[in-house]
Order: sequence, then C-alpha cells, then structure tokens
Amino acid sequence: MAATSPASYGGGGDGVGRRRVLMFPLPFQGHVTPMLQLADVFRSRAGLAVTVFHAPVNAPAAAAAAAAAGDYRFVTVGADVAEEAAALMPTGGSGSDFAGALMGLDALLRAPFDDALRHVLAEDAATACCMVVDSNLRGVQEVAERRGVRTLALRTGGACCLVAYMAFPELCGKGVLPPASRDQLQLDMQLDELPPLRLRDMMFSATSTHATMATCLERLLDSARCSSGVILNTFEDLENSDLRKITNGLNVPVYAIGPLHKISIGQESSLLTQDQTCLEWLDKQEAESVLYVSFGSLASMDSQELFETAWGLVDSKIPFLWVIRPNSVQGSQQACLPDGFEEATRGRGMVVSWAPQQDVLRHRAVGGFWTHNGWNSTLESICDGVPMICRPQFADQMINTRYVQEVWKIGFELEGKIERRMIDRAVRKLLCSEEGKEMRYRAKDLKNKAITCIEKGGSSNTAIHMLVNLIMSF
Ligand code: UDP
Repeated sequence: MAATSPASYGGGGDGVGRRRVLMFPLPFQGHVTPMLQLADVFRSRAGLAVTVFHAPVNAPAAAAAAAAAGDYRFVTVGADVAEEAAALMPTGGSGSDFAGALMGLDALLRAPFDDALRHVLAEDAATACCMVVDSNLRGVQEVAERRGVRTLALRTGGACCLVAYMAFPELCGKGVLPPASRDQLQLDMQLDELPPLRLRDMMFSATSTHATMATCLERLLDSARCSSGVILNTFEDLENSDLRKITNGLNVPVYAIGPLHKISIGQESSLLTQDQTCLEWLDKQEAESVLYVSFGSLASMDSQELFETAWGLVDSKIPFLWVIRPNSVQGSQQACLPDGFEEATRGRGMVVSWAPQQDVLRHRAVGGFWTHNGWNSTLESICDGVPMICRPQFADQMINTRYVQEVWKIGFELEGKIERRMIDRAVRKLLCSEEGKEMRYRAKDLKNKAITCIEKGGSSNTAIHMLVNLIMSF
C-alpha cells in the first residue's frame, strides 16, 4: 500500500465523514498507554477518526482535554457503576486476584457499554468501521459483535506471553498445571513445550485460583480467535518465532506493529503526573552511569524490602533514579525511607513518585534499569538499548524476565528474598562489569533493530499499513 497521509481517507478535521475506529482499553496504565498510542498512530498515520470508550476508573487524562466531538472522542462507560468498578480495582500488587478483577470489570462494563455503543452507532453508523478491544475485555467484545461491529483484539503483552497463554490449556490437560505440589524442584522444572520457561513462570498469580485463571485465559484466547485480527505491541526481529506460533495457532491475522511508543507522536497517556525535574537531574549525570529503578503501576513491596532496596542502593555507590509510587509499599499510602538514607545518597540519588519513564530510558545518562518487567517497561528498555535487572512479581512479568535473561541476554533476574548485599552486587554487575557491558551491547543491537522495523519498508511499518488496509476494507 502506498504511504498514506493524514486525512487521506476523506472527511474533515472535525472527524465528520472520516472512517472512525472505536477503541476500548482495560483501565490500567500498562493497557491504556498502548491503546492510546495506537489511537495516535491511526489518527496521525492514516487520518482515521477515533472514539475511545473508557471505564469510569483510571480515565485517561486525554479524555478531559478532548473535545466532545471531532476526530478524537472519549466516552465514559458506566459512570453510574463507578463505585463498583473502583472496588474491583486490585490494590495490593501480587496479593491481588487480578484474574478475578479483570473478569469482574469486564462483566460490570458490559451493559453500560451496550448503551454507550448504541448511542455512538446511532450517530456514527456510517463511519464507525470497527472496534479495537483489549483482549481482556471479551464481554465487551461480545457486545460489539452482537451489534454487528467487527473487532480487532489488542494484546498489550509480548508475543512470548501470548504463546505461553496459548499453551496453558494443554498444560492443564496434561496435568502439569496446576502443579501437584509447591516443591521447589518441581516448580523449577523446565517446560519442554515452552523453552525457556519453567513451571513456576506459568503461575501467574499467587492469589487467583487455578479455575479463575483458567477461565480468564480462555476468555482472552477467545477474544483473539473471535477477532478479525490480533494486534501486538512488539516487532518481528524481537519475537519472530513466537509471532509465527501465534499466527499458526490462532488462525487469525497477526499484526506486530510495535514498538508503539516509538511510532506514536506522544499523545499524553500517563494516569499519574510525571515528575519532569528528574530529567534536569539526569542532565547533570555522566553518560550511562545511572540506574533507573521502577516497578510499574501495580507491583508492590513490603517495608522490609523497601529498606533493603534503599540500603542496597546506598552500598552500591551508583547514581540512581528511583520511582516510589504512592501505595507501592504494602499497608501504607506513603513510603517511609530509612533514617540516614537521604544524607547517604544526597547528590547521587533521586526519588520521585512517578517519572516520565520513556524520556528517562532515552536519556544518555541512564545505564541500567531495575524493573518488574511489565511488557511496556521491558519493551521501552529494549528500544532504548538499556540492560535490565529483573524482579518480576506476577502476570506476564516472569515470562518477560525469562526472555530478557535467556533469549535476548540483556539482563538477569534478581532471585530470592531481597537483601541489601545482593542488590549491591547486582547493580555493580549491571553497570560496572564486563558481563553488564555485553548485555548493554546486545540491548543496543535490539534497539537498532527496533529502529529499522519502524522505518519505511520495515516489518512494523508494513504491518501498520496492512492493518489500516484491513480496517478500510470493513
Ligand atoms: N511508567 C511511567 N512512569 C513511571 C513508571 C512507569 O510513565 O514512573 C509507565 C511506563 O513507561 C510504562 C507503564 O507505566 O509504559 C507501565 O507499564 P508496564 O507494562 O511496564 O507495567 P504495569 O504497570 O502494567 O505493571
């Protein structure tokens, strides 16, 4: 397909007459961000108009700023069930039943979404051509299907994760999952079907029951299978073989169009206010000298782990930028750092409650990332050539960690009970050792591949054109 320019599909700047894509993200940071980045790509690259439906919790900031009409609209779904939705939102990191919460939200939003969709279709029936739905919202997708709207499923995780989810039912059928015991040897067992994963990497939650998890994944896979195509925020050179497995296994077209944050033009998607002052602080640091420490929007630690992390960072003597979100320490709204920490790290370390992460990882001063390995963080780190210390907690994080360590070899896992000496050692390994240098070298190679795939003729660029073509054919 020839390159398309904005508005080349007809209609005016107010969105009237233009093809309109409907979208519905799951209301979590790691899901809202790629969905809005995709909206941005549709609008800026293909001139498509977009309507984003969103839950009454974690509403994107862009929703407040957007005009009620025009080429970019936001529709709140379920304002009158906002309290129930808020009560369903998981709060306690790995202690939360995420699978149950996701299905609860999906069920709660179904009826209000049906209402909202009916109104939107009454206004836009001629131009609304399809809906991109987060693959965790199977119920929402069913509503759209029933109203005759074609759907595409956005998977906000990596291809490696989707392949593992696809193998989950078979592993259950074989009696491998759930594990017969919590015996460490058994949990460490390598899964022949899914190298380099171990049995324990497939235990996505400590609190969701096996039955809840199985249903949640079944619905997620249904969402992909029932769609007209699966969209993944990844790129061919990173996950080539897993992308093939998905295409063969799901029997629907697969569009690997990432890294979205490098393609979109930067529409604001952060749900929390980002502290920009850390960028000025980074400007004063030496190249590749700083460790960036952040565990995303949901992972949490207890106060003992916080103390050990703080003293480990002190002992390493390495400059660091550490994100401590409000409520990231279990049982307290505001984290309490140990006495003496501030004096010991003055001038060398900075703590913020939320950072402009993509700008941070892009900054020349950042030499390593200690992360929980949410997919967005993993991909953002890869695409800026930053090697990682991995500390996964739940969901797909263990899978991403295994790929970082065993497949891409651009980082390593910090295993076992967190304790200051292991942190000191890990930080030095990443930033000061020959091994760390090699990891950085490989990460930079992947960064270059990511750049190539989004250029004209690159795999992601081509996949975007094919996706837009598909949308135009509806
Ligand atoms: N993020 C951010 N500032 C921070 C920490 C995280 O903007 O201080 C962003 C990060 O860039 C990423 C998202 O929040 O896009 C987190 O998503 P991820 O999938 O890594 O983890 P989750 O929050 O879903 O566990």
